[in-house]
Amino acid sequence: MKKIAIIGGGFSALNLAWQLLNSDATEELTLEIFEKDRQLGGMAGGFKEKNWDWTLEKHYHHLFAKDLAFQKFLKSLDLENQLFYQKTLTSTRWQNKTYQLDSAWSLLNFKELSLIDRLRTGLVLALLKILPNGQFLEKYHASVFLQKTMGKKSWQIIWQPLFEAKFADWAEEINMAWFWARIKPRTAKLGYVEGGFQFLADQIEKKLINKGVKIHFQSEVKKIQLVDRQKNKGPQLKLIIKSLKAQPAKLQEKNFDLVINTLPSLQFAKLIDLPELKNNPLKGLAAMTLTLRLKDKLLKDGTYWLNVNEKDWPFLAVVEHDNFLDKRFYNNEHLVYIGKYLSRKSPVYQYSAKKLWQNYLPFLRKLNPKIEKLLIDYRLNKEDFAQPLVKIQHSLNLPAMRTSCPNLYWLSMQHIYPFDRGLNQAIVASNQLAQQIKEDWGF
Ligand SMILES: Cc1cc2nc3c(=O)[nH]c(=O)nc-3n(C[C@H](O)[C@H](O)[C@H](O)COP(=O)(O)OP(=O)(O)OC[C@H]3O[C@@H](n4cnc5c(N)ncnc54)[C@H](O)[C@@H]3O)c2cc1C
Repeated sequence: MKKIAIIGGGFSALNLAWQLLNSDATEELTLEIFEKDRQLGGMAGGFKEKNWDWTLEKHYHHLFAKDLAFQKFLKSLDLENQLFYQKTLTSTRWQNKTYQLDSAWSLLNFKELSLIDRLRTGLVLALLKILPNGQFLEKYHASVFLQKTMGKKSWQIIWQPLFEAKFADWAEEINMAWFWARIKPRTAKLGYVEGGFQFLADQIEKKLINKGVKIHFQSEVKKIQLVDRQKNKGPQLKLIIKSLKAQPAKLQEKNFDLVINTLPSLQFAKLIDLPELKNNPLKGLAAMTLTLRLKDKLLKDGTYWLNVNEKDWPFLAVVEHDNFLDKRFYNNEHLVYIGKYLSRKSPVYQYSAKKLWQNYLPFLRKLNPKIEKLLIDYRLNKEDFAQPLVKIQHSLNLPAMRTSCPNLYWLSMQHIYPFDRGLNQAIVASNQLAQQIKEDWGF
């Protein structure tokens, strides 16, 4: 009987567990998930206020119509009927005006650019969309490539503000393959799951428990240690786990034949000393999302996703969830996310919800002068590692899923490339790892 542990309970872990259990040799393995939170779902997890029927994500989440791996995952769970798609409106805020900018037609009407620049921008976007694989573009800086092909103004007005808001000081260093991979899977219709992604994670939890998986909540893995066993038994890995349920918190040790870590390098390096985690070039940014519960809409023009291209505004996007999903699922409340990426070391990352709200307020008033009167409540969620930085020739830095420590595997958003980290890619990558483990271990 092989004992397997998975560290972290996000969607990568959920799919890994599901795929490993759907092998031919399920009687030969036991599987345990250690999650430091009280629930599964990770960054796509959410919460539910009193009188809401559906859960809401801590950070805005949607799928694209071409997210086939996620669709297949739901099908294998018999949950595919919960997935649905809806057309949404994307706009851009630029110099105190809001422009719909989400189709060839709307780009052609975007008079802030000359006709030539509009045509160049549209042509480059169309070429990127039909390009089957754009990884070779990783040798170019997106900032240089886009200025040369789409025009300087197109870069300055449309793309530069987004790169700066997403990648802060590293905006000029991001490679062009990343940009291709952002454009390629985009579809006009966006996908969502009935009940919200937390509800989905809760249903998967039940299915995993029915299959015999042990899920340990509020169990934070603190260390991974290699244990050499005698008599040709092969090495094991010892997990040192802090139970956050107990007061005071208790430490516990457990041995496993095989351990899969799903945390990014920032957190992984605290668990074990591995050569590939030393001086590692896999840097990333943190995210903070302020969620507003409102009595009425903030964005009255139907926009779901508003890119904020204003130079001095302190956030990247305003996402009006109720312009995507019906407010009746949330007791008729209007829900708006204000998104931002930044360095963990930035003083703003330490802000409380109240301080961030006060900091955002003058800008939100420009979108809707009545915003303060509409407010029911706000809530702040932070992620220390939310967006990997992908610089020139990033493929040379990609970490292996089989680590240098025997029997220890690793899968995180840093293994996903050139596509941006996302739920669909988390499923693609965890399918690959499950396959590799089955081959290595003969499951
Ligand atoms: C702001 C934002 C917006 C996003 N929007 C989208 C979107 O629209 N569409 C989309 O597809 N994707 C989106 N994503 C990305 C998506 O959330 C992730 O790709 C996906 O959730 C990754 O899942 P994961 O399992 O790899 O990692 P995670 O979800 O990060 O899971 C890791 C888990 O490990 C747990 N953990 C951490 N440390 C320990 C420890 N020491 N011991 C035990 N457990 C631990 C954490 O609590 C967490 O549950 C977004 C992400 C962010 C931050």
